[in-house]
Amino acid sequence: MDDCIFCRIVRGEIPSPRVYEDDDLIAIHDIHPAAPVHVLIVPKRHFRDLMDLGSDPEGPAVAAAVARALPLVAKAAGLSGRGFRLLSNCGAEAGQTVMHLHYHLLGGRPLGEKLL
Ligand code: 5GP
Ligand code: ZN
Repeated sequence: MDDCIFCRIVRGEIPSPRVYEDDDLIAIHDIHPAAPVHVLIVPKRHFRDLMDLGSDPEGPAVAAAVARALPLVAKAAGLSGRGFRLLSNCGAEAGQTVMHLHYHLLGGRPLGEKLL
């Protein structure tokens, strides 16, 4: 997608150092971190959100790629053995602001029992 900010980061048009990269995804530091470690896991292929991913024939393969990469991203981010939270905002009421599927990997301090 030409005007999608994360597609532009994936293509290297907007510089963003990679915490991790493979054929299917990149992991980058969030520009406005909400925790000491706040990494975004961004599939290279443009899906709008989790609903789009789940309804696309290629979605399961991308979801599997995220699952495979997660331990490597967590290790690269210094979270191995510490714990973290992984979440993806989907749609308006979740507060999704970038309409290219991504997962927030949060950690680096005790995050508390409550999600909200
Ligand atoms: P959302 O609200 O869609 O779940 O999360 C979007 C996230 O992307 C936000 O946490 C925001 O700080 C981050 N973000 C927005 N633009 C950029 C950018 O250009 N570079 C990086 N690294 N993060 C961005
Ligand atoms: Zn995109």
